[in-house]
Amino acid sequence: MNVFVIGIGLIGGSMALDIQEQYPEAKIFGIDTNKKHVEEALKLGVIHQKATFEELKKATIVLVSIPVDAQLDVIPKVLDIITDDTLVIDVGSTKESICNTLKNHPKRRNFLATHPIAGTEFSGPKAAIKGLFKGKTNIICEVEKTAFKLQEKALEIFSKIGMRIRYMDPISHDKHIAYVSHLSHISSFMLGKTVIEKEQNERDIFDMAGSGFESTVRLAKSSPAMWTPIFEQNKTNVIETLEKYISNLEEFKTLMQQDKFNEIYQKMESTNHIKQILNGLK
Ligand code: NAP
Repeated sequence: MNVFVIGIGLIGGSMALDIQEQYPEAKIFGIDTNKKHVEEALKLGVIHQKATFEELKKATIVLVSIPVDAQLDVIPKVLDIITDDTLVIDVGSTKESICNTLKNHPKRRNFLATHPIAGTEFSGPKAAIKGLFKGKTNIICEVEKTAFKLQEKALEIFSKIGMRIRYMDPISHDKHIAYVSHLSHISSFMLGKTVIEKEQNERDIFDMAGSGFESTVRLAKSSPAMWTPIFEQNKTNVIETLEKYISNLEEFKTLMQQDKFNEIYQKMESTNHIKQILNGLK
């Protein structure tokens, strides 16, 4: 099995490691615009060999794991090169743009649109982790548009690396993910910005950054190159989530100004329900 990974970073690299473990016969080829990342991936054993686009003709599977704006150019080119039996999987964090871009491509049936809900705030091949996807959900969109045999191949891989599957249409995916993922990143970035602006002394931030701040601001370490195109592609949904979030912050501020601490208590208590929701998912 020849597996080509385009974009050997956190997600592509982690999948390459899991595929190697589950399919010891698999040969992993890497393509990346970042030459340093290709060399690192070779050294770390994330890929076996570097490759070029022309070689995609010999691919069994192509995993495209690059920023969502770049995908819109790269995936049609990949589909133009591959054979009729090759499966092309994307892992992008938005789904409507890529599904629309590919809807009339002659090789649409070779493509599967997915979004693994797994990750960390780190990027590049050094961030790749074995077992990252174990017990995590993979959202698959427009599965009926992918050839049945290729769907089966993809599902076998996802099952072997421990993922559970949810099916969703791309529009619903982008709407829901704006709340649970995209808003969390904006909230974390802006929390980090607020504290950096207010606390000029970095040593003070470091010394007082105990548990709460550090865990809440973790996502602000994420890559702007990956997140800017996500916000751009999901602009309408993200703005809607921001409006709701800002209105909650405004309400909290007003309650503080009016000394309505009982109401503040009640709001926090009802939000504690998030514990049950998250435990239910484990
Ligand atoms: P990453 O660690 O930054 O890896 C992406 C790699 O692709 C980098 O080496 C990057 O090089 C390279 N690259 C950029 N443009 C390219 C192009 N046109 N052709 C070939 N290589 C290119 O990113 P990631 O976190 O794995 O994210 C990859 C995809 O997974 C994104 O679509 C993202 O939305 C999705 N995703 C991410 C997460 C997460 O938590 N991170 C979770 C689920 C899905 P440079 O570093 O030089 O740009």
